Amino acid sequence: MSGNITLTMIKPDAVRKNQIGPILKMMNEAGFRIRGMKYTRLSKEQAEAFYAVHRGKPFYESLVEFMTSGPIVAAMLEKEDAVTAFRELIGATNPANAAPGTIRALFAESVQNNAVHGSDSDENAVIESDFFFSKVERF
Ligand code: UDP
Ligand code: MG
Repeated sequence: MSGNITLTMIKPDAVRKNQIGPILKMMNEAGFRIRGMKYTRLSKEQAEAFYAVHRGKPFYESLVEFMTSGPIVAAMLEKEDAVTAFRELIGATNPANAAPGTIRALFAESVQNNAVHGSDSDENAVIESDFFFSKVERF
């Protein structure tokens, strides 16, 4: 059974370029409802924990540095089959491979500075939503 929530971050590269508005507009127009949202900046410890699955990979330390380089927008989104639908909306990790019209094709700078995060499974959508949002921060 597929779940109805996913967790996104608008990453520091996109925030720096004032792309929060256009990116949220694309999410809303694709039918995602915002259940929770916050503007925040990850500590090194938080970024390391969020990306713990990638610990040891060659890009891990640079990724943590990038993700702590400025504020982000974290949002919990709801739609039927949210994880799959959202990954379609954002496109491939590397913008060179992202389908035309996807968020990463439009806004990403590189495979690392790729504008947005999207959960990769229903299980991780729950874990990542719990990472950012308490019960009273969900609507
Ligand atoms: N990343 C990177 N180099 C790579 C692969 C990934 O810098 O070769 C970064 C990129 O910001 C990516 C994040 O690490 O979004 C997490 O990687 P993952 O493979 O989970 O990609 P995603 O699920 O974000 O598409
Ligand atoms: Mg991933």
